Amino acid sequence: MTDLLVIGSGGAGLSAALEAARSGAKVCVVTKSLPTQAQTCMAQGGINAALGNLEPDSVDEHVADTLRSAHGLADETMIRRCCEAGPETIEWLDRLLTPFSRLEGAKTPLQSIAQRRLGGASHPRACYAQDYTGLKILQTLYDRCLEAGVEFRTRHYLLDLLVRDRIVSGALFWDQDAGEVVALHSRSTFLATGGFGALYHGYSTNAAGATGDGMAAVLRAGGVLRNMEFVQFHPTALEGSAILISEGARGAGATLIDQAGERFTDELGPRDEVARAIFAKIRQGERVYLDLRHLGEKRLNELMPQELHLARLHAGIDPLKEPLPIAPAAHYSMGGIAVNRDLAALGLRGLWAAGECAEAGIHGANRLGGNSLLEIIAFGRIAAKNALNSPVNPVEHTEELESAKRRIDALLQRKGKLSPHSKHKILGKRLYHDLGIVRDRELMEDTLSYLGELQSRLDQVAPQDPSRRHNQALVELLEYENSLLLARALCESALHRRESRGAHWRSDFPQEDPEFAQPTLYTLESGAVKSEK
Ligand SMILES: Cc1cc2nc3c(=O)[nH]c(=O)nc-3n(C[C@H](O)[C@H](O)[C@H](O)COP(=O)(O)OP(=O)(O)OC[C@H]3O[C@@H](n4cnc5c(N)ncnc54)[C@H](O)[C@@H]3O)c2cc1C
Repeated sequence: MTDLLVIGSGGAGLSAALEAARSGAKVCVVTKSLPTQAQTCMAQGGINAALGNLEPDSVDEHVADTLRSAHGLADETMIRRCCEAGPETIEWLDRLLTPFSRLEGAKTPLQSIAQRRLGGASHPRACYAQDYTGLKILQTLYDRCLEAGVEFRTRHYLLDLLVRDRIVSGALFWDQDAGEVVALHSRSTFLATGGFGALYHGYSTNAAGATGDGMAAVLRAGGVLRNMEFVQFHPTALEGSAILISEGARGAGATLIDQAGERFTDELGPRDEVARAIFAKIRQGERVYLDLRHLGEKRLNELMPQELHLARLHAGIDPLKEPLPIAPAAHYSMGGIAVNRDLAALGLRGLWAAGECAEAGIHGANRLGGNSLLEIIAFGRIAAKNALNSPVNPVEHTEELESAKRRIDALLQRKGKLSPHSKHKILGKRLYHDLGIVRDRELMEDTLSYLGELQSRLDQVAPQDPSRRHNQALVELLEYENSLLLARALCESALHRRESRGAHWRSDFPQEDPEFAQPTLYTLESGAVKSEK
């Protein structure tokens, strides 16, 4: 029996695990892939903290920038907590030996950490490690977790939470290597399963596994999701492959140009505005480019070696010689598991959530670049402390375990002809075009009935392989089921919000409406979307 069961091994999961293990708790981290295979590893631009290492900055300005970007849908108390935690979070990561890029001639280690400006920020505030920021943070956290005695269970896919009378006692997993269902009980359960950007399969900067499994499990357990309609589209992904070229490039001076070679928008405006400006050009049949050429080889090699390599590899273009064709792509889920100010899931006891899977009132209608990495580390640690202080008495769930085994057996035996992978691709394309950067009622109602059809034909989607061990297609089928559930939550929430706000832009309601200045709540029980009072 563990004190803390951490589900997900990205930045939120490993910060929580390390904090808990260092306080003497027995911690187990469970992940559906390998320990450092997470969105966190892909983060390039940086992690925000008002250190003021390049020019004067303050927590108040960080709070003000975040609030402005959230368009009235965030919780100022939570934003302040997050921004105030910024400098201490960087200091903590620095003490753990995260290899940040450095400035020369600084007086203290903290003052030596290099910072750059990302979109919507009034100062250079993102601390970085070249364009490997998330990777370096996560590898460092993993090393420290191993030293602190954290147990890891890899390739265990979260099926469902173990819940009775609204108390969560752990979770059920599909052990992909052993080919069996296992129940893990715990005094506290912490979800850090990341976002659902991969619903937009083929049009997303996220890896294919970012299917919001934790959010779907919370819905099934009777919990609440908040602000599901808010999906951030990053302005500059490589056309075709959707590989991200981070805001760090524009922060360093890269420009956005149209086919005529003209600039047409403020490159460092908020992401929603820049993405819409690019999308408008693309809808007119134009191509849009990110021009890095004037930054020079030395600077680009120093700031973004990974992105240079990815551009050459995936677009076949050398950014030193030619502008890069780009298009916006689904990037970040602002919505997620509704948590209170202690980061406990609403409506369930014994369950905590932080990071991209949770909606903690930080990002509102539009996330500021660099704030997610800060949130996952700062709130991962806080959630772990709170969870350890409020344990539950776990109960056995024999019946649920047996029922999950029967369900998996049935899925493996299913005879349908359609593969989950092909269905996911079709879903991604549909969502990008009809529930993407520009929305309207007609398109969304069509999408909703399309989702209903997909749901009714779910029994035709099968793994095509009955093997129990190492069956990736079974995992893809489970992910596809979750994607359908969340796509419905997204679509219904988006229909409910009859206005435009931040990343949710409706051509039939193009203005912000004070009547919708509250978050949206979504549950399976009530079967309806509500505005939070
Ligand atoms: C290309 C890219 C660049 C980015 N750049 C930045 C940046 O510069 N700055 C910034 O602030 N943010 C950035 N972001 C956003 C940021 O990286 C993420 O929001 C953040 O890392 C999410 O961390 P997390 O710990 O919440 O989730 P993740 O890192 O996504 O981890 C989720 C974990 O949950 C596990 N999991 C999921 N489902 C299951 C299941 N069913 N069973 C078991 N385990 C499961 C996964 O395997 C994984 O270990 C970027 C995102 C991308 C995609």
